[in-house]
Amino acid sequence: MSIQLYNTLTKTKEPFKPLEEGKVKLYLCGPTVYDLLHIGNFRGAIFFNLLRNWMELSGLDVTFVYNYTDVDDKIIKKANEEGVESTVISERYIKEFEQDFNRLGLKKHDHNPRVTEFMPQIIKFVEDLVKNEKAYVIEGEVFYSIDSFDTYGKLSGKNIDDLEAGQRVEVDKRKKNPFDFVLWKPSKDGEPSWDSPWGGGRPGWHIECSAMIQSLLGDTIDIHGGGIDLIFPHHENEIAQGEGRTGKCYCNTWVHNEFINLSDEKMSKSLGNVITGRSFMDKWHPEILKYLFLSVHYRSQLAINDDKIRGAISALARIYTALSNAHQVTEFEGGGVVNKSFANTLSQHDAKIKKNLDDDFNTGEVVASVFEVVRAFNSLNLLKKAKDKNSRPTAEAFLAWLKKYGDMMALFGQDPSKFMLELDDILISDRKLDKSLIEELVAKRNEARDSKDWALADKYRDELSGMGIELQDGNPDRQWCVSKS
Ligand code: AMP
Ligand code: ZN
Repeated sequence: MSIQLYNTLTKTKEPFKPLEEGKVKLYLCGPTVYDLLHIGNFRGAIFFNLLRNWMELSGLDVTFVYNYTDVDDKIIKKANEEGVESTVISERYIKEFEQDFNRLGLKKHDHNPRVTEFMPQIIKFVEDLVKNEKAYVIEGEVFYSIDSFDTYGKLSGKNIDDLEAGQRVEVDKRKKNPFDFVLWKPSKDGEPSWDSPWGGGRPGWHIECSAMIQSLLGDTIDIHGGGIDLIFPHHENEIAQGEGRTGKCYCNTWVHNEFINLSDEKMSKSLGNVITGRSFMDKWHPEILKYLFLSVHYRSQLAINDDKIRGAISALARIYTALSNAHQVTEFEGGGVVNKSFANTLSQHDAKIKKNLDDDFNTGEVVASVFEVVRAFNSLNLLKKAKDKNSRPTAEAFLAWLKKYGDMMALFGQDPSKFMLELDDILISDRKLDKSLIEELVAKRNEARDSKDWALADKYRDELSGMGIELQDGNPDRQWCVSKS
């Protein structure tokens, strides 16, 4: 079966067929760089990274473009507040974004174009639209005439007449239709400005994506992505621009991810209910964020709360404990073959994962497969079977299997021992535990054991257990850990 993708344009799952055999042109709307991004903004980057990786594992060669919007009202506003050029703001927040992005460990995109680098292409695009009578000029301002584009509304399913009827906001009387949108506008004093046939000005928001797509990927692309809030007007307008310019299909498949919510409300800066990616990764861990996002389907809303975060920590601890055990088993002698029933389990889950990812990227089921494989591996109890020459190849097969799917999801690539210790520290601060007290009690228990005072040793063990601390005698990394169940 080929990959099936839900296409917002047709509202159905369709077999994905690239324009050019073996090649995929993918564009994802990137951030407006005026502040740190919130975790919701990273859902697209995390999900489309997996989409690209799975397509590549399926033999397709993907060109992935993710832009930076570095000309925008919000950037200009912040620059004015700080009394600096708007490039100071955009450069600063591109750097901040890159820092967050690198921490997430996602694969680099092929291109990260900035609007300011594409001004000649944007101006040419607008000129073409004016020539095609899709756009009109009024006092140095260029508008797209939506009435000139017959299929306007086809992506969002919006009917222009309904839109007009429901219109409450004050409209610019100069426009032919209140929903005509700006392609180019004159810059005000102190705003960045570029020369154009219509005077000094700057581009509207929607035109930038169309111009960058056309310049870097061509007139028609395979997949265009973004959050569902971008369907209207942003993507609807991109289609009008792209198809208004060439008369050809602008994009075959539109893929939109649902929202990340906080307390049942969309996480958004304007609502003021955001957790920045930076603060999440500082308090928790990038691995926890990626796990949370990929354990649900990209077209489902996901409400983030502390219980879900703690659930993700215990799930990751289970996987990393198995990884850590497997690494210890690879120190054994070896020389045998992979346990037959375990090899079967692996190939069954290869097939399941393929089926689930090919079915519109059902990542929740991939995570379920990972758990089943981990369970099967644990049940072999290989750490206790150092003499069995099959132990080592079986552990190696498990590690290779998990690496393949982990790399695809950008998960499970942490050093297991180090990561488990990091999780302990995260939980210690989450539960407001006192680490020095824990260490003191563990030391006292050891002293009691050394002097064979078993009753006292048990008392300390119970005290630790009451704090949610488990003893793990014989563990080479640390004698205790925080309970993660
Ligand atoms: P913006 O900078 O607001 O244009 O957003 C950048 C990307 O993040 C867009 O693809 C948005 O659709 C997406 N986005 C914004 N808020 C959320 C959210 N709460 N959950 C998921 N995606 C979001
Ligand atoms: Zn865009």
